[in-house]
Amino acid sequence: HQRLLGGFKRTSGRLGDNLTGLLGTQHLDDATLDEIEDALIASDLGPATAAKVRERLSTERYEKMDARGVRVVVAEEIAKVLAPVAKPLEIEAFPRPQVILVIGVNGSGKTTTIAKLAHLLTEQDYSVMLVAGDTFRAAAIGQLQVWADRVGVPLISGKEGGDAAGLVYEGVKRGTAEGIDVLIVDTAGRLQNKRELMDELSKIRRVLGRLNPEAPHDVVLVLDATTGQNALSQIDVFKESAGVTGLVMTKLDGTARGGVLVAAAERTGLPIHAIGVGETLDDFRPFDPNEVARIIA
Ligand code: GDP
Repeated sequence: HQRLLGGFKRTSGRLGDNLTGLLGTQHLDDATLDEIEDALIASDLGPATAAKVRERLSTERYEKMDARGVRVVVAEEIAKVLAPVAKPLEIEAFPRPQVILVIGVNGSGKTTTIAKLAHLLTEQDYSVMLVAGDTFRAAAIGQLQVWADRVGVPLISGKEGGDAAGLVYEGVKRGTAEGIDVLIVDTAGRLQNKRELMDELSKIRRVLGRLNPEAPHDVVLVLDATTGQNALSQIDVFKESAGVTGLVMTKLDGTARGGVLVAAAERTGLPIHAIGVGETLDDFRPFDPNEVARIIA
């Protein structure tokens, strides 16, 4: 909870300052409502949530309301946006292995998230195997190996520059032969060459689809909350071409702009499976919409 508080400090701090400044002496006339709406957007909450708050404040005709009262309305609206998307990843029993494709740009926390997820699933008694599908960076393969050893799960990896789709094929074959429950596939994240990246993801999807029409069962996009609006535009980039089924938002500890969580929920309605709140294996958890709403507002 403390880490989460840190992660939302900037969002909630700004929101608090803005609202307090606004509502010191004023009544909720139209101009004030406009300013509240602007303040909410400036706090990284999405425009739809901001508009909803404004609408509620105006239709419920609060003649006089202090910052505290407004914050209660804001918190309620945030909880409403987050409640439907707070959904931990569900692992189906069949077919085995369930394939989780993990995508996201370099630096978003993809490798760490894969390790955290593998750790969580292992603790829940699932057998897990990793595939080092980011074959472009030798460092990525090495780093994933370190995590795999730490978590105690096998890793399928090839040479730097090798064919990622081929490796995924091998992963599914071995996973099937070994009765693995969950195969987690790392993928490249070079946004500098979008075309190539998207082609590669489609190729991996085609190979998986041939092995099992339902695979990949999940396509999890990892987003770095500290990048604010950038994280949101990455959703647009990946959503269409990669068929994203859910999100994980990382770095919600420290100086993150946690309001982006609300904006992402509002913009996509995609499940947010978990949040990252640190660099170790245990710093990964589902979130409670009410807790986050209370922290932000
Ligand atoms: P990748 O390039 O997307 O695979 O990113 P990495 O998993 O290597 O992570 C990039 C950096 O972010 C590393 O220094 C990680 O320790 C750090 N990181 C990842 N997730 C979190 C998180 O939830 N909180 C914090 N504070 N750091 C994180």
